[in-house]
Amino acid sequence: MSLNLDAMRAKLKASKTGGTKTTSTSTMWKPKAGEQNIRILPTADGDPFREFHFHYNVGKNPGIYCNKRNDNGECAICDFASKLWRDGVENDDSNLKNEAKKLFARKRYYSPVLVRGAESEGVKIWAYGKTAYETLLGYVLDPDYGDITDPQTGTDIKLTYTLASGPGAFPKTALAPRRRPSVLCDDAIADCQDLLDSVPVIDELFERKTSDQVETLLNEYLTSDATAEQSSSETQKYNTASNSNVDEAFAAFMNNED
Ligand SMILES: [Zn+2]
Repeated sequence: MSLNLDAMRAKLKASKTGGTKTTSTSTMWKPKAGEQNIRILPTADGDPFREFHFHYNVGKNPGIYCNKRNDNGECAICDFASKLWRDGVENDDSNLKNEAKKLFARKRYYSPVLVRGAESEGVKIWAYGKTAYETLLGYVLDPDYGDITDPQTGTDIKLTYTLASGPGAFPKTALAPRRRPSVLCDDAIADCQDLLDSVPVIDELFERKTSDQVETLLNEYLTSDATAEQSSSETQKYNTASNSNVDEAFAAFMNNED
């Protein structure tokens, strides 16, 4: 596959301005409620279904890239969450355990996609959860479908997205391959090679913070949390009273987050 010039330009720009790269929101794609058709594109490294680990629930921060789970580095949030969990188990304290669960790194999955009907917007990155991931790998390994990302013989996927039904519920993503294989693009859509060349390197989309920066974010969160503790006593009572619900909701979240 030829060099991704857009990525090179972005790297050069980031290097010159000394700025950290942030994920371009225009690259990320989120399904709309209802039905849509997408085509997953092949990537240069041969793996268009990528798994990454992030920490959520650290104050108002967006997902924090976990240096430990992703790259075997150091991560203060992982260390803190593990310690909380151990304390929770040793003291049979469900509040501590729940707090630990909130902070554990979660997996998200990423694939480059072309959204049918919006091909002119170019290649997007779709982030999804474990259920969709396993469904997609199932198709790839099923000889009836095979390489659904192949530009010539691959298959579009029908994606039905259902919004969360209420508080504590999660959106659902249902997938179904189209009945017939199809080409990724014809001349009416775009130059297919240009499209393939424009597939971003997914690894480069995420902002990496240094271990020290992550530790600072965690400390800021923990300090600000002290003031929030009083106002959250209602929630804590609720959590204690319905702990099994919390556990169930957590299990559902880990397995079914969109
Ligand atoms: Zn971590």
